[in-house]
This record gives sequence, structure tokens and C-alpha cells, in this order.
Amino acid sequence: MKELIISNLKEVHNRIKNACELSGRNVSDIQLLLATKTVPFEKIRIAIEAGETLIGENKMQELRDKDFGLKELNTERHFIGHLQTNKIKDVLKYVSCIQSLDRLNLAQELDRQLQKENRNLDVFIQVNTSFEESKFGLRPDEVISFIREVKKYETLNIKGLMTIGLLDVEKEKMQPSLRLLRQIRDEIYAEGIENMQPLKLSMGMSQDLELAIAEGSDMVRIGSSVFGNRFFRKRNME
Ligand SMILES: *Cc1c(COP(=O)(O)O)cnc(C)c1O
Repeated sequence: MKELIISNLKEVHNRIKNACELSGRNVSDIQLLLATKTVPFEKIRIAIEAGETLIGENKMQELRDKDFGLKELNTERHFIGHLQTNKIKDVLKYVSCIQSLDRLNLAQELDRQLQKENRNLDVFIQVNTSFEESKFGLRPDEVISFIREVKKYETLNIKGLMTIGLLDVEKEKMQPSLRLLRQIRDEIYAEGIENMQPLKLSMGMSQDLELAIAEGSDMVRIGSSVFGNRFFRKRNME
């Protein structure tokens, strides 16, 4: 198991490196976040001992279950799943960033809790760039007004945009949603909203990491290419 995870990690780093070379980007500018939903602590530990530092979880329950070991290991943890407002307080115990900010009442409730705790939080705004109804995230045309609202909350540091691109076997079908996220960022910059640069793009998963890097991704979120296929679970993107 250990050898496999380590060789998978090498392979993923190679894919990132090759994608960077092809698109003239710097490997050091791309962060690798390990998406560890359903992955047991022991496997995550192997990746962390091999040098990884950033992990993303989708469920409060899993954050809590793995916390005993992860907090010792100096990992940076992000929340990348759909966040219900009644879980905010618990999730905040474990993460330094929420990548799935997708509605105003969530921003408001986060702010309320953060004020109580007298702290700030990094957030990414999740955008539904594939227009699939099953996916969470703001509609692309809602993003700019959403940002204007979220900027009012001083506890929230808007670090970037996140999307789950359209997954398909054909590259031509996957590319538009990734490109769209970058275009949205360009629009935000063009709006001249104060202090909105730089914004990172969190996009690219096992299936589309090369494309995502070519389209400007700053952070790829990889699960199955490192840890193997998850048991199929309905709505396992949550
Ligand atoms: C599971 C998940 C990933 C990683 O997906 P893989 O295809 O396993 O690489 C990335 N982002 C989010 C939000 C996820 O839920």
C-alpha cells in the first residue's frame, strides 16, 4: 500500500510537471491538494510523510474522525465539500480554508461564527461552470455581485475561485468549464473591485489536471490518482 501511494504521488507530480512544461508555467506555482474523502488516516499519513502538506475533506464527520492523527502532522486542511450552515462551527475547528462558499447566508453565518471566535478565514468561491444541476456553486453571472457582498465581511479573506469542471472522456468537452473559471477571474479583475488581486483558481482533478493547468489552475485537487478509486457512492462530490 505504501509503495503504491508513493509511486502514485510521483506520477501525479510528473503529470503536473509535464503539464507545466507544455503550458510554460512554473511547477512551483501549482499547489497540490489531496482530496481525501473516504480515504483512511493511515493512507493519508503515507502521503504526508512523503512530503505533501495540503489536504481537502468534504465532510465534517471525516474531518473529525481523522483529526486525532492529522493535527499532529502539520497539515493544512481545507473544506471542499458542500457546507451546511449547521455544520459551520464544527468544520471551523479543523480547517483554515473553505473552498465551497456558494451562497450569501453561508457567508453571513460564517462571519457570525468567526466574529465570535475572533478570527479570519480564507475562502474560495465555488462556481458551477459546467451548468450541471447536480453541482453546487454560483452561476457564473452571479459571481461579481456575490463578491461585492462577501467583501463586506471582514472575517472572510477571498483567496480565489473553485470549480468542479465537467468531467468527460473528451478533452473538448472538459475544457470550456475550466476556461470559464479563468474568464470569470479576468472579469473580476476588470471590474476593479478593490484588493481583489491575486485570486487563485482551484480546479483540476485526477481526470482533468493537465487541462486545468493549461487553463491557468493554481491548485489541483487530486484524490483517486493518488489513493485509488473510491467505492462508488452516490453524490460523492458533496
Ligand atoms: C473528490 C473531489 C476531488 C478529487 O477528485 P478525483 O477525481 O478523485 O481526483 C476534487 N475536488 C472535489 C471537490 C472533490 O469532491
